[in-house]
Amino acid sequence: MISNAINQTIDVALGERSYPVWIGRGLLDDTSRWRAALRGRHVLVLSNRTVAPLYLERVTRGLDGLHWSSFLLDDGEAHKSFANVGLALDALASLGATRDACVIALGGGVVGDLAGFTAACWMRGIDFIQMPTTLLAMVDSSVGGKTGVNLPAGKNLAGAFHQPRAVIADIGTLDSLPDREYRAGIAEIIKGAAIGDPDFFAWLEQHAKALTARDEVALVHAIAAKVRYKAGVVARDETEQGERALLNLGHTFGHALETAGRYTTLLHGEGVAIGMLLAARLSERLGMSAPADTTRLEQLLKAVGLPTTVPPGSDPQQLLALMRLDKKNTAGTLRLILWRGIGRAEIVAGVNEADVLAVLKEAAT
Ligand code: NAD
Ligand code: MG
Repeated sequence: MISNAINQTIDVALGERSYPVWIGRGLLDDTSRWRAALRGRHVLVLSNRTVAPLYLERVTRGLDGLHWSSFLLDDGEAHKSFANVGLALDALASLGATRDACVIALGGGVVGDLAGFTAACWMRGIDFIQMPTTLLAMVDSSVGGKTGVNLPAGKNLAGAFHQPRAVIADIGTLDSLPDREYRAGIAEIIKGAAIGDPDFFAWLEQHAKALTARDEVALVHAIAAKVRYKAGVVARDETEQGERALLNLGHTFGHALETAGRYTTLLHGEGVAIGMLLAARLSERLGMSAPADTTRLEQLLKAVGLPTTVPPGSDPQQLLALMRLDKKNTAGTLRLILWRGIGRAEIVAGVNEADVLAVLKEAAT
């Protein structure tokens, strides 16, 4: 285990399927290190048309002597589709990929989710390596083995649990990431602290400025702390039978806001930021948490430049209707992740819709 200010390694402990998450600058160029995770001679690098011109060559330089090809998606959530999984599988077929082949995902969560699902499907499951290039992918989507694609009927409706062999988070790739995307990633970092790590939450309050200014030491610390937290949850509850559902704090409200904006007004992390705050207000209203905790959350979100108010013109009744469609619900009642203040979240079933509506109405005025 390497551990200094700038490089960190965190292990996701899943027995035989355990894997390391490396965090640091310049890791893509450390080819001899990551190449050791390849078992066979066939590699398909999956990326997109924004990321590939920036970083693909650095990866393919490490594939010298192997049979490899690349498959590039167009940029955007719309391309996380079943059709593209089919094309990626065709690319593996053209490569003559055998069971020991590896798929490398070079990109954000869209590329990672699709690449992982493709790897899960080819010959019923081959290796894949995550090389996340967004902050959100580094702290969230690349770790934990949830893979999948969207269907016309909804987001992430087709997928599989398939853990990567390694996660290589080269923070140098974030240099080209737009600020808005960077902040959306911070939302998922704050979420981890809000759910289960009060000390980390306090650290984030103290380092909000450094983190938004992309101070490297603060950034690596924050990524590592969130990954360590998520790795622990995943090791205890890989397939979301219980605890892992807590990672959805703010997501039922957030998804409703994202859907209401037709996925064009809010980034996912922005929806989660507002959603966490609404969940905190609802928890406060239900007597589960103290107003001071809600205030701390709101101030931290503001300090890192995340939105804390619902978009103008939001319709509370429409948002409630969208929340009723959430996967966590059972027929007729709302099931939400609420919290008991900084660092403690819980699943609450049978939440009264009138309370949810009251919180939404207050937020929309
Ligand atoms: P994304 O993959 O769309 O990337 C965001 C944008 O940044 C894209 O335009 C992309 O081309 C660009 N980009 C990526 N890396 C860049 C770089 N280094 N420099 C410049 N631009 C870069 O979005 P995301 O936020 O990374 O991921 C969102 C996706 O992740 C969603 O599909 C969501 O469902 C999924 N997700 C999955 C999990 C999971 O557990 N599997 C968890 C959270 C989110
Ligand atoms: Mg999320």
